[in-house]
Amino acid sequence: MSTFQAPKGTYDLLPPKSAKFLAVREAIAAPLKNSGYSYIETPGFENVELFSRGVGESTDIVSKEMYVFETRGGTKLALRPEGTASVLRAALEANLHKAGNLPVKLWYAGSYYRYERPQAGRYRHFSQVGAEAIGAEDPALDAEMIILADQAYRSLGLREFRILLNSLGDKECRPVYRDALQGFLRGLELDEETRRRIDINPLRVLDDKRAEVQKQLVGAPMLRDYLCDACKAYHEEVRELLTGAGVAFEDDEKLVRGLDYYTRTTFEFVHDGLGSQSAVGGGGRYDGLSEMIGGPALPSVGWALGVDRTVLALEAEGIELDLPSTTSVYAVPLGEEARRVLFGVVTELRKAGVAADFSYGGKGLKGAMKNANRSGARYTIVAGERDLAEGLVQLKDMESGEQTAIALAEVVAAVAARLA
Ligand code: AMP
Repeated sequence: MSTFQAPKGTYDLLPPKSAKFLAVREAIAAPLKNSGYSYIETPGFENVELFSRGVGESTDIVSKEMYVFETRGGTKLALRPEGTASVLRAALEANLHKAGNLPVKLWYAGSYYRYERPQAGRYRHFSQVGAEAIGAEDPALDAEMIILADQAYRSLGLREFRILLNSLGDKECRPVYRDALQGFLRGLELDEETRRRIDINPLRVLDDKRAEVQKQLVGAPMLRDYLCDACKAYHEEVRELLTGAGVAFEDDEKLVRGLDYYTRTTFEFVHDGLGSQSAVGGGGRYDGLSEMIGGPALPSVGWALGVDRTVLALEAEGIELDLPSTTSVYAVPLGEEARRVLFGVVTELRKAGVAADFSYGGKGLKGAMKNANRSGARYTIVAGERDLAEGLVQLKDMESGEQTAIALAEVVAAVAARLA
C-alpha cells in the first residue's frame, strides 16, 4: 500500500469490475445513439454562477454540496454537480439551437462531484450517463426519454425498478400552487431550516423524509389539483404514450426532485433492492432553464442515470452481465527468436481484429501458461526454436486442451477462422 488512499467518498474502478461499469455505460448509451442523440462532452468544471443560477441557490446541491474553488486568476469555478446546466450552456454557446433542427438531442457520460455524506450508493465522485432534448415542447419527447431509459435498464436485465411520474406544472399554475402550499406550511410546527425552505423552495418540504414532518403534511394542497388545463392535457398525453409503449409507471404526486429547474413532466427510476439510495436515475422537463442562464426560451427535457447505482442494482438482482473475455489469443514465446516472431504474429492478429496478448518479461513455459490461463484466452500460441526451425507454431485450444502444429505463415488466418 502507498502512503495515499482514494479521497473520502470516492472509490477506484478496478478490473475486473471496471468492465461491468463500461458495459453499463454502453448499455445506457445504446438506445440514445439509436434514437438520434449525438455525443457531447463538456468540461468537468464550470463557472460557479452557471450552477447557482441554473440548478438553483435553494437546492442542497448548490448550497451545501458543490466543490467550489478559485483559480489563480481569481475566477470562481465549481466541479460540475450535474450535467444539464453544462450541456445547455454548451449548446447555447455554440448556437446548436439555431442550426434549424429542433430538438437538439444530445447524450453524455462523465464524472460528477457532490460533497455529500458518503454511504452505500452515495459518493462524492460518481458517474452518470445523461440525455437532453433541447428546444421542443412535445409530450412524445418526454415519453421518448422515459421509454429509452426503460429500454436501457431492461437491456441490462434489470426488472425490479419502478418509474415514478409526476407533473410540476408550468409558470402559469405552479406559482398559484406555491402560494397555497406556503400558506399551508406556515401553519405547521417546523424547525428553523425547514421554515426557511418554505420561503425559497416550498415544494422541497413535501420531499422531507422525516416521519414527524410527513405526519403534518397530511392534507397539504396537492399540485395535481392546481394544474392548469394545458399542463393537465400535456401530462395526460405523456401518460397515454407511455402506456401505449407498454412502459409501466406509478403516479407519484409527491415527486418534486431536488433541482429547481424542473417544470411539467418529472420522473424518477427507483430500484427496490438498493435501500435508502434507491434512485437510480431521474429527470424531467426544464422549460425555464435556458432563460435562467441568459438564453432564449427553449423548452427541453432530459434525464441522467447513475452508473454506480445501476451497477449496484445489477448486483442486487444477482445479474451477471455476459461480458466477452477480453483476450482471445495469448502468445507464449520460448527463447529470443520466438519472442521476435510471435510479437509479430500478435501484432498481425490485432490488426486482423483478434484480441491478442503476449507473455512479456521472458517467462518460462510454466509461468507463461499460467498467465495464458488467467487471461481467459481461448487459444494459446506457443513456439520455441525447434518449432520455428520447421516453420511451425503450436496452437493450443484452451478449452479442449488439444494442441495442433500450424504453419507460421498461416497462423493468423487459421486463428481468425476458428474464432469466427
Ligand atoms: P440527480 O441529479 O440527483 O437526480 O441524480 C441523478 C442520478 O445520479 C441519481 O438517480 C443517482 O443514480 C446518481 N447520483 C446522484 N448523486 C449521486 C451520488 N452522490 N452518488 C452516486 N450516485 C449519485
